[in-house]
Amino acid sequence: MKEISPDKLYQLFNRSKRNTENVIKAAPIGICITNPLGHFEMVNPAYCEFYGYRQEELLGQHFTHVVPEVNQAVLSALHAEFMQGNEDQELRQEWEVVLKNGERRTIIAEAARIEADDGEPRKVTFIIDITQRKQLEERLKQANERLDHLAHHDELTELLNRRAGLQRLDEEIKRCERYGTPFSIAIYDLDDFKAINDTYGHSAGDSVLQQITSLVSDVLRDTDLHIRLGGEEFLIIMPGVNAEEAYQGMERVRESVAQQTFTEHQLTMTLSSGIASYVEASGTRLLERADKAMYQAKQTGRNRIVIALSSM
Ligand code: GH3
Ligand code: MG
Ligand code: MG
Repeated sequence: MKEISPDKLYQLFNRSKRNTENVIKAAPIGICITNPLGHFEMVNPAYCEFYGYRQEELLGQHFTHVVPEVNQAVLSALHAEFMQGNEDQELRQEWEVVLKNGERRTIIAEAARIEADDGEPRKVTFIIDITQRKQLEERLKQANERLDHLAHHDELTELLNRRAGLQRLDEEIKRCERYGTPFSIAIYDLDDFKAINDTYGHSAGDSVLQQITSLVSDVLRDTDLHIRLGGEEFLIIMPGVNAEEAYQGMERVRESVAQQTFTEHQLTMTLSSGIASYVEASGTRLLERADKAMYQAKQTGRNRIVIALSSM
C-alpha cells in the first residue's frame, strides 16, 4: 500500500473539513450547532434566512432566542440533558418557534450529538418548517369536527338530534343494566305552538324554539342530555335521577318557561311533559311510556308534568 505523508494527510483532512463546511452552507435546510451551554456556534444561511436574522445576530446567542418564552425553560433543560446523554443520542421533535419579525412557525427539529475537536459535545440541529402542513392539518381537523357536529346536532337549536339522542338513550340503558344506576327521561312538547306560527310567522316560531331550548338547557343539570326529537318535541335524559327528582327538575323547567317571555313579541309559552324512569325496559318502551304520560299532561289541561306509572 502506498504511504501517505503526514503533510498530505493533513491536507486531505483540511479539504474534507472544508467540503463538509461547504455542504452545510449550501444545504437547503436550516442547520445550527450549539455548544454545551446552548449558545449558537454555527448557523447556516438557510437557518438565518428562515428566522430572518443575520448570522452575526445569532452567533453567541442562546438558542432559546428563537423559542417562545413559555417553552424556553423546558427546552434549556432538554438541551442540557441531551448534551449529557449517551454517545449516539438523537432527537426528533416538533416545536413552535418565533422568527425575528415575531411570526410563529412550527418546525421539526432533528438533533444529533457530536464530539468537537476540543473533546466537548455539540448539538447539531436540522430544522424543517412544517407550518403549512400544520395549518392544513388544523383546518382539516376543524372541518371534521364541524361535520361531526352537524351529523349529531340539530341546526336550529344546536341540541343533539333525534338519531344521536336515541343512541345516547341506548347507551344509558346499557349503563343502567350493567351498573344498576337509575335514570329517568322526560319528553316535553310546547303547548299550542301552532298558534305562534299562524299568528307571527314561521321565523318567529323558530326564534321561540331557540330561546326556549336555550332557557331549558340552562335550567337543566350539566349531566342531563337535551335532545330535539323533532318539531317542538324534545327529550331530556337524566342520568342517576329517579322519577321524583326528575319531576322536581321538570317542574323547575316548566316554571322557568312559563315565567319568561320570548322574542320581540313578548310571547308567553308553556310546555307539557311526561316522565318515565327506567324499569327493565327497552328504549322504545321508555319513550312510549313518557309519551303517554305527556299525552295525559296535554289532556288534563297542559302546562303540567305527569310521571308515567311503571305499568304504563
Ligand atoms: P299541543 O299543545 O297539542 O302540542 O298543540 P300544538 O299546536 O303545539 O301542536 P301541533 O302538533 O298541532 O303543532 C306543532 C307545530 O309546530 C306545527 C308545526 O308547524 C310547528 N313546528 C314544528 N317544527 C317547527 C320548526 O322547526 N319551526 C317552526 N317555526 N315551527 C315548527
Ligand atoms: Mg305542541
Ligand atoms: Mg308536537
